[in-house]
Amino acid sequence: MSKHAAHHHDHSHDHSHDHSCAHAHDHAGRAPEAIRAAELWCQEHGLRLTPIRQQALEALYATHQPLSAYDMIDKMVAAGAKRLAPITVYRALDFLVENGFVHRLASRNAFVACPFHHKPDELVVFMICDHCGGVDEVLSDDLSKSLSVLTESHGFAPRLRIIECGGACAHCRDQTKAA
Ligand SMILES: [Zn+2]
Ligand SMILES: [Zn+2]
Repeated sequence: MSKHAAHHHDHSHDHSHDHSCAHAHDHAGRAPEAIRAAELWCQEHGLRLTPIRQQALEALYATHQPLSAYDMIDKMVAAGAKRLAPITVYRALDFLVENGFVHRLASRNAFVACPFHHKPDELVVFMICDHCGGVDEVLSDDLSKSLSVLTESHGFAPRLRIIECGGACAHCRDQTKAA
């Protein structure tokens, strides 16, 4: 059971709330636009961002931390929705991951919203902070090329290209240094 309850349900975009963490602002600020974009993209591709899929995406945008399906259910209940069965949330997550709106972090068995709509074969590097739980995702052309050379030299066809790094983010690193 992860205990990421530090932010409770103060996930409104209340900028007066003093978040010490830079990830939070970034993420919540992108939410309305990203959800709108996801809606449009689904429409254009003959898919539907159903209310449950949208709720799941909103739950992930309400925090900068990766959430498990169970954490998401709690968030949705806190936001006023009825309690969904885990299988329902997993189905919504399958859709969101498949279509590039959400990433699954294998090392945490948790999910993060992706505002960048990365393609499944794009190399994404995650930097996951052990202290604040913040997740930053970055792309690297150099790394992407090197990884292609490496996998090709092994005759391997990657379905997914995700690298997860655990450690301390720039913010938390400064704080531990100062202490
Ligand atoms: Zn992404
Ligand atoms: Zn941190």
